Amino acid sequence: MIQTDILIIGAGPVGLFTVFEAGLLKLHCHLIDSLPQAGGQLTEIYPKKPIYDIPGFPEVLAGDLIKNQLKQIEPFKPGFTLGEVAKTIEKTEDNFFIVTTDKGTQHKAPVVAIAGGLGVFEPRKPPIDNLLHYENKGVEYIIKDPLFYKDKSVVIAGGGDSALDWTIYLANGIAKEVTLVHRNASFRGHLDSVQKVIALAEAGKINLVTEAEVTALYGEQNLTGVGIMHNTQGLIQKDCQHFIPLFGLSPKLGPIADWGLDIEKHAIKVDTYDYQTNIPGIYAIGDVNTYPGKLKLILCGYHEATLMCQSAFARIHPEKKHVLKYTTVNGIQGF
Ligand SMILES: Cc1cc2nc3c(=O)[nH]c(=O)nc-3n(C[C@H](O)[C@H](O)[C@H](O)COP(=O)(O)OP(=O)(O)OC[C@H]3O[C@@H](n4cnc5c(N)ncnc54)[C@H](O)[C@@H]3O)c2cc1C
Repeated sequence: MIQTDILIIGAGPVGLFTVFEAGLLKLHCHLIDSLPQAGGQLTEIYPKKPIYDIPGFPEVLAGDLIKNQLKQIEPFKPGFTLGEVAKTIEKTEDNFFIVTTDKGTQHKAPVVAIAGGLGVFEPRKPPIDNLLHYENKGVEYIIKDPLFYKDKSVVIAGGGDSALDWTIYLANGIAKEVTLVHRNASFRGHLDSVQKVIALAEAGKINLVTEAEVTALYGEQNLTGVGIMHNTQGLIQKDCQHFIPLFGLSPKLGPIADWGLDIEKHAIKVDTYDYQTNIPGIYAIGDVNTYPGKLKLILCGYHEATLMCQSAFARIHPEKKHVLKYTTVNGIQGF
């Protein structure tokens, strides 16, 4: 059982900033995220896109903002449960919450801060009949650890940055063989990545099959091959150990929708005094919440996290009076 002061669900920019504000109050945080890395939408959807409305940064790449936030919270030594979905919540008699993930990891805390953004990102899956049978038996939708594919034969499908970037990465001395299948002749990803993929194909280092789709999967128990339907050449059979469709992720509020919280239009209703939900001790901050005048902006989430931490402190330490001190006066005193 992992124990902490504030259990944060969602390691996006707002969840990460909560660690900082809580740390200033000497409250320890642990974060759960369904994705294998921190950063939420910024890392998953637009890491290379510049953001212009973060105070003090005329321009910052989304991925760099997250890197900076991770550095900023280092002194407060947060814990992370990554690649797991917060599934159930229960309340103990002594007023603690126990949150259990889809993999069975249990977390206990007196305060839960839901910073779940648009929700759990679920992979967009190709319409192949027996796809489910091969999940985790050769079919994966997210590459958590590239070394898992060391010396393996891999077929990747997709035309965006994710498909291009992983093709380049795995072809560089990791996988034994990489085949990239894309249904169009042109790609949606960065020009630089497209050029690298074409150069790899021309050098014979990857197989590039465009204007084609993977339509069949083969193998008795584990995946042993795929069928690629080409627009003009018909069905091509390709032996492989892994098929990785990278068609993007679509967010869903997920299991949190069943936690008894007041929900309006897929968002959690909160009191703007301290961003608490209808269940005392459970707060909702960032894109996941709603209230009159709500704006889904990173800056607004940071403000919500700051006020929420003050309220969490009073809840965890009702006997202590907190006096606000500027970081310019106090500095950062980590754990
Ligand atoms: C293309 C694009 C450009 C944008 N540009 C800007 C901009 O310029 N300026 C700006 O201010 N905003 C911008 N935004 C909006 C900004 O990205 C969001 O406001 C911000 O990401 C919200 O942060 P968050 O931490 O609340 O949620 P998110 O970033 O969505 O993170 C939430 C995290 O919670 C996790 N999660 C959810 N439910 C669970 C669960 N049950 N278990 C485990 N994990 C869970 C998710 O996996 C996710 O990682 C942009 C958004 C997009 C898509």
